[in-house]
Amino acid sequence: MKIAADLHIHSALSPCSSLEMSPAAIIRRARELKLDAIAVTDHNSMANCFSTAAIGKKNNLQVFFGMEAQTREDVHILCLFQSRSQAEQFNDHIYALLPDIKNNPLYFGDQVVVDEQDNIIRHEEKLLLNALDASIAELFELVRRYQGFAIPAHVESAPFGLLVNMGLIPVELDASVMEISCATRPQAVLQTFPELARFPLISNSDAHFLKDIGRAYTIFDAAEASLPSLIQAATHHTYHVHFRNCHG
Ligand SMILES: [Zn+2]
Ligand SMILES: [Zn+2]
Repeated sequence: MKIAADLHIHSALSPCSSLEMSPAAIIRRARELKLDAIAVTDHNSMANCFSTAAIGKKNNLQVFFGMEAQTREDVHILCLFQSRSQAEQFNDHIYALLPDIKNNPLYFGDQVVVDEQDNIIRHEEKLLLNALDASIAELFELVRRYQGFAIPAHVESAPFGLLVNMGLIPVELDASVMEISCATRPQAVLQTFPELARFPLISNSDAHFLKDIGRAYTIFDAAEASLPSLIQAATHHTYHVHFRNCHG
C-alpha cells in the first residue's frame, strides 16, 4: 500500500515554531492534505507528541513519536519511535542529556506543551535549542536501544546538516536512511555530495508553520503504516518523494 508520510513537523513546543502549531491543528492540516502518517519532531523533546498521537488515533491518522535531536557535533537527527513506552523512556533519557540552561522566551520564543483541546499545559523551562551531551554515535546507539529509527535530518543544509558539519558520513551510519531538505532536489544534492548515492534519500516538510506541512513528504510503498515497514520500504528503495513548491 502507498503511505504518504511527513515525518518532520515542529509543534509549538519548538521555540522557533509558530504558536499555531498545536497538536490538534497539525492533525487537522495533515488530514486535509490526506497524509497517512506524520511525526512531530520538536527539538530535543517529545512533550507534544503524546497529545498529537492521541488526536491522531481518534482521526485515523498514524502518528509516530519523534524528536529532532541535536548532537554534540551540532548535527540534527530525527529520532522516530512506534511504541509510546519506548518513546517516553527515550525522551526521559534525552532530557537528562540536555544542558540545564533556561529558555529566554523573549529571545528564542515560547516552548509550550499543549493538550488535545489546545490548552497550554506548561512552558518547558530548559532551552530546547541546544546540543545534547551525546555524540552522533552515542545517539544512534540510544535510539537503537529503545527500538527507534534515527534519520539524519536535512543532511545537505547549513548549519545543522550532517554533511555540512562533518564533511563525511560516519561509518556507524552506513545503513541509514537520510533526509534531504525540502528546499532542494535529490539530483542537485547528489551533484554536491555524490557519496549520498548509496543511501535512500527521503524528504519531509520540516514545517514550523501550518501552511508548510506537507510541502515535501515521502510516499512509501509499504506493507502497512508502521514505522518498521516505512523504513524497510526506504531501504528497499520502494518510495518516492513528493515536493510541493518549496523555498526554504
Ligand atoms: Zn533541523
Ligand atoms: Zn526541523
